[in-house]
Amino acid sequence: MLEPHIWPDTARDIDGNLELGGCLVRDLVRTYGTPLYILDRATVAATAQAYQAALAAHYPAPAQIHYASKALLNTGVARLMHHLGLGLDCVSLGEVAVARRAGVDASHIHLHGNAKPSAELRQALAWGVGRIVVDNLDELHALGQLTVGQASPSPIWLRLNPGVDVHTHAHIQTGQLDSKFGLPIDTGMARAALELAQATPGIEVVGLHAHLGSQLSDAQAMRRGVARLMEFAAQMRQELGIVFTEFSPGGGLAVAYRAADPLLDIAHYVAALCDELQQQCQRWDYPLPRLVLEPGRSMIARAVVGVYEVVSIKQIEGVRTYVAVDGGMGDNIRPALYQAHYTVRRADASPPGATLPVTIAGRYCESGDILARDVALPPLLPGALLAFAQAGAYTLSMASNYNLVPRPALVLVENGGSRLLQRRETLDDLVARDVEEDDLHTRAAPETQATI
Ligand code: PLP
Repeated sequence: MLEPHIWPDTARDIDGNLELGGCLVRDLVRTYGTPLYILDRATVAATAQAYQAALAAHYPAPAQIHYASKALLNTGVARLMHHLGLGLDCVSLGEVAVARRAGVDASHIHLHGNAKPSAELRQALAWGVGRIVVDNLDELHALGQLTVGQASPSPIWLRLNPGVDVHTHAHIQTGQLDSKFGLPIDTGMARAALELAQATPGIEVVGLHAHLGSQLSDAQAMRRGVARLMEFAAQMRQELGIVFTEFSPGGGLAVAYRAADPLLDIAHYVAALCDELQQQCQRWDYPLPRLVLEPGRSMIARAVVGVYEVVSIKQIEGVRTYVAVDGGMGDNIRPALYQAHYTVRRADASPPGATLPVTIAGRYCESGDILARDVALPPLLPGALLAFAQAGAYTLSMASNYNLVPRPALVLVENGGSRLLQRRETLDDLVARDVEEDDLHTRAAPETQATI
């Protein structure tokens, strides 16, 4: 069974073979190899449409979706999101450069990050990035210097820390006071930042932002975040005379990695945020700001399936069965980093037999490189294909060359056709940055000997 909230919209089981976007996974693997990440365009389009329709239904003022590109970005993904009418959230010049290369106008790009180097800020200003989202006082000082003498002030947002705890993995919580992200409201730092900004001619704070964390399914916590920000906005209007015209509660909506995971669907999530924001604006008699939502995971995770080939199987009698695959923490660090879980199934038809619990081990030289524990799978032999659902977010974007294993390919499927968005890395790619100085060692050797 392919649970619709876990697998892509076009996923079908054809006599035990997984089909995505009208393509059989086993055929895609024949063409592109494994590990392979397969992106179903229809699911991304439907998700974007769900967000846009919910905003249109629940928010009477201008509103926009900005895809948080840290979840997954390359030229093809940036182009796709742009084509679907989304702006982009970036957290580095690298992400901004890819977005621009994909044809996204800089004005539709926002730059986040808790430690933006000065050179990146300078370049972002030169490119005309839509909003720089200032995270701390030092960044504000730096921007002040970089914008001296500018003809008109650069519009910026402040990322605030609203002091709202959420129940998610500690590594992906960001809205609590003890966090590296954002200007705390409670300690007075957020207000100090506004005062500093008011005294800085090159910038103008036009919006407030907060992001509470990722994998959130608790609408009440999100409402608390919105309420706290709007209370602060109302207070700052009274005390400093500033009226913010833009507002972003960040991203963070959860996806279900397993059938029973708690889930808040996009329509309810957007409705709750819009309702709370309107209530708060009414309460403080505040004009409705332009609303920007920044979904990352919930935009892309379900659209992508990761496929591995089984390489070896080791049965430890009375202990467990390890099924080792040809990828792992190099392409998906989430299980090792966050103890993340996945729904796994065979992607190609299996011989008849009862399902058995197995542990899926990655190929990397770390005991912690376990992709999934105790998942029930039908009989497996080396060569079998395993499909991981919800593989689009924070997998390839966090991929590394650990053990110098080339990173996988990403292929887009639609209406029975497929095309590469990002090719598999080659062995040549792995040495592309290495500096080859043939005489380095021959030159170094005599000196080394002399000092021993
Ligand atoms: N916006 C900001 C500022 C973020 O830091 C993040 C994630 O870290 C996101 C949006 C996207 O979060 P998610 O992928 O959980 O939707």
